[in-house]
Amino acid sequence: MTTKHFFIKTFGCQMNKNDSLIIADLLSTSGYRQVNDPEIADIFIVNTCTVRDHAENRALSYISSLKKWHNDQRILIIAGCMAARLSSELTKKIPYVDLIIGPDSYRKLSSYLNTIFQKQTRIIDVVSTEETYCGIHPGISGITAYVSIMRGCSNFCSYCIVPYVRGRARSRPADDIIKEVKNLVNTGVKEITLLGQNVNEYSYQDWNFSQLLNRIARETEIFNLRFLTSHPKDLGLQTIEVVKNNKNICPWFHLPLQSGSNRILKMMNRQYTREYYQNLIQLIRKEIPDATISTDIIVGFPTETEDEYNETIELVKTIKFDDAYMYRYSPRPKTRAARYKNLPESVIKKRLQNLIDIQNRIIREKSEKMLGKKYEVLIEGLARNGSRGKTKGNKYVIVNESMMPGDICEVEIIKIVGHTPIGRIKKQNE
Ligand code: SF4
Repeated sequence: MTTKHFFIKTFGCQMNKNDSLIIADLLSTSGYRQVNDPEIADIFIVNTCTVRDHAENRALSYISSLKKWHNDQRILIIAGCMAARLSSELTKKIPYVDLIIGPDSYRKLSSYLNTIFQKQTRIIDVVSTEETYCGIHPGISGITAYVSIMRGCSNFCSYCIVPYVRGRARSRPADDIIKEVKNLVNTGVKEITLLGQNVNEYSYQDWNFSQLLNRIARETEIFNLRFLTSHPKDLGLQTIEVVKNNKNICPWFHLPLQSGSNRILKMMNRQYTREYYQNLIQLIRKEIPDATISTDIIVGFPTETEDEYNETIELVKTIKFDDAYMYRYSPRPKTRAARYKNLPESVIKKRLQNLIDIQNRIIREKSEKMLGKKYEVLIEGLARNGSRGKTKGNKYVIVNESMMPGDICEVEIIKIVGHTPIGRIKKQNE
């Protein structure tokens, strides 16, 4: 049999990008070869996202454009969360699709491909929800990598589709995770981010998240270790102390706030209050004064009043996040919040823009505070006027010299352009 080639287009979050690496690893092991040009591919995999309406529409319009690419000799696969959500419905929208596969069925990809190539049939498999992809360790050629420690989520925030398309939370065996981290370190990876919808809920046999984190920091020689995402309700002192006591764990916490109003938080089923959240931030800053904190915020949740929106704004101004991902509320079918009446689009748009403007000012102020200070920076690649790297606090910095990816340098911030700190490398004798 001649070698078949596959091309993957990925939409969505880091978890999806990681899943694309798993797909590539599984197919490469089965004798398929990945290519960067869809025109020479026999198999086109679109790994989709459904977390927001916009993400789904983008994926659908992209897939519609593949009609010209598809023919009897070629296979089109729709994978990921949108495949799981829409399942057979997709065959009406995209009649030429050959395989619709959910995020937990990728181990069966190769056997499905054999069947489709032989029988020119269509397959839909979006039902499995137990998979953790234990034993799959995609190789990485760069210096940063993501390692998924768990899949799915059992929290059922009222606006979120994840538990419906990725199933309930389940954790990978700790030994398998350690093995993957060690393999990556051996191939030159310097920074690893542990991934999960709520990493703090990691639980495998006797291991909880803070124990796993401590073990990875101590048993592997990873230079920078990060983790993403922490649900505020589950991040405790134990994990904060592990971060504090291990120099190779970056003191950066991504803690989605979502709203500053207690009534809206309750409607969102977030299981914490604004006061609890504020106390948690205080605790982190008390234990680790140079910790950086980023967040996610949803604007315009159904029934959010102007006063409740202003409670979010007030909290944003008080906490001063180092970074924030801000979104308009997007109703997702099946979720509890989809039953609520939406706010007018114009109101949501105005509120979101105001929040973005305020947060941008905060980021600018924070960047300016970096002026004259020194940071350890891990170089990730070239930039237009030098190199691009990241501080332990997850802040991108441009360095005015050409450095190699993986270099670690002490950088003094000398100016700010836009929101980006520009630095010069401190020489050893300075
Ligand atoms: S914690 Fe909530 S928002 Fe995050 S993935 Fe789970 S259900 Fe969705």
